[in-house]
Amino acid sequence: MIKVFKFGGASVKSAEAVVNVANILEKYSSNKIMVVISAMAKTTNALERLLNAYINDSFDKFSIFEDIKEFHFTILKDLLDETNKAAFTDLTQNFDALELKIKGVPTNNNASEYAQIVSYGEIFSTLIIYHYLKSVNFSCAWKNAGDFIITENKPQEASVDWTNSPAEIKNNLLPVFEEFDIVISQGFIARSKENNITTLGREGSDYSAAIFAFGLDAEDLTIWKDVPGLLNADPKYFENTEKLDSISYRETIELAYYGASIIHPKTIQPLQNKKIPLYIKSFINPDAKGTAIQSNTYSQLQTPSYIFKKEQVLISISARDFSFIAEQHLSSIFNKLSVYGLHVNMMQNSAISFSLCMDNKGEAMLGFIKDLQQDFKVRYNEQMELITIQHYNQDVINDLIANREVYLEQKNRTTIQLLVR
Ligand code: ASP
Ligand code: MG
Repeated sequence: MIKVFKFGGASVKSAEAVVNVANILEKYSSNKIMVVISAMAKTTNALERLLNAYINDSFDKFSIFEDIKEFHFTILKDLLDETNKAAFTDLTQNFDALELKIKGVPTNNNASEYAQIVSYGEIFSTLIIYHYLKSVNFSCAWKNAGDFIITENKPQEASVDWTNSPAEIKNNLLPVFEEFDIVISQGFIARSKENNITTLGREGSDYSAAIFAFGLDAEDLTIWKDVPGLLNADPKYFENTEKLDSISYRETIELAYYGASIIHPKTIQPLQNKKIPLYIKSFINPDAKGTAIQSNTYSQLQTPSYIFKKEQVLISISARDFSFIAEQHLSSIFNKLSVYGLHVNMMQNSAISFSLCMDNKGEAMLGFIKDLQQDFKVRYNEQMELITIQHYNQDVINDLIANREVYLEQKNRTTIQLLVR
């Protein structure tokens, strides 16, 4: 069976980091491994700046381009000497193609320009790593993810075609493992049936890895990160974080949904469907155990996990004539939410008012409120914080709400949500 490994930008940010990736792969030399890689370090952000400069025809585009090029060639030269013609030619050809692209005139389809330009980050990173691995005698192949991950014809945040992608992977990628031990491909990028480059959304490489795992019927997926595993809270907000040894798919989806920035929220579903375990492990300390995510692991249910979502707005809606909030009111409120593209993080209904809490989405949210004010009395409070705790107990709640006012509270057996200020 094949294992899938995903390496993010931080794990391939320098020549040293790439050597570390090779050392990790060496530990698994008896396995067949599908390796999914993101763009190096902050390259995707740099490419987004390049895209903007290109679209606005700003002269900056050339210096941004040169910086990206120099960054990658410096890593390549640290890893390989120039007698490795294939490596230097591959990278040069792709940088030449990108340069030609930005010298041209942009179309007015910004989204399509986005996919064409920003997708280069993953191409550069995978080419460098592929050539390096080959040079140190790994049996490996390089493949374009667009040949296997098929999406709707939408350049950004494209939805995956769940009929064609697994079929392409099974028919055309699986056989590659008969000849090679390792196949290197890109996260984040895909292709439509119309043959256009598409992308899966920022931080989408985790999701790509899960799609490959699904199509390959992988033994497991490991996401290599710069943290020891899944933590029970964001260390930015919390002092004594604990690593979770194991957690269920369901709890992970909930954590990701309520805003823990651990893995891309779409990653779990394909894995859960095929019961493929997901491991989060440290690329700095690859022998450590990390976190195992799989179905119904109840081993650590007692460790509370915390998610803090700041910049929340509480909107309270009531009828002007003091009448009850009835079903037709709710249906018109939900309809407006979808029209304004707003996402509700928590809601509560009482006899005469309906409250909901959402991220402060500026314009769209103010439009929604204004629209509601035609039919309802609407009050809103900004600067609130939504706290979600899995496996809560009264002590942890008391600690968190000391000195704070609780505006809304909701709980079930495992999870409590508190909207506080
Ligand atoms: N390189 C892309 C990004 O930075 C995809 C990823 O890293 O997952 O958003
Ligand atoms: Mg990235």
